[in-house]
Amino acid sequence: MASIKGHCLCKSIQFKINSECRKSVFCHCKMCQRSNSEFSLYTKVNLKNLIITKKNSLKWYSSSKAYKRGFCSKCGSSLFFQKQVSPSHIAVITGCLNKSVPTVGHIYYQDKKNKLTIGKNLKKFKKSSEGFFDNHIYKIR
Ligand SMILES: [Zn+2]
Repeated sequence: MASIKGHCLCKSIQFKINSECRKSVFCHCKMCQRSNSEFSLYTKVNLKNLIITKKNSLKWYSSSKAYKRGFCSKCGSSLFFQKQVSPSHIAVITGCLNKSVPTVGHIYYQDKKNKLTIGKNLKKFKKSSEGFFDNHIYKIR
């Protein structure tokens, strides 16, 4: 089965994404600015397609009532973003993947800080896309 491997900086957390994932989306929200960088790039994976092979140092931070953020407690890499209650999917930071995933858009564009423009022809949402990008699937090969 085709897959993309990923790991944190120190390799204490290792995983793979099997078969498919959502195309990647830039998030410019203020919480991601603090947690990752001035903007973040995420793919989104059905839980059945994410196989975590090593996770001894995986810790979760509840960044809001609805969502939590997964990171490596050893090296500090930010890796995951997920619903607190009955998640069906997990958002994965594309920077920790061994391959790039095509990019389709921007969310929380109203919070964008830097004047630098990346992917200006991509679809933009001022806030959440409310699932708009969910059917933009990338078939891994
Ligand atoms: Zn690590």
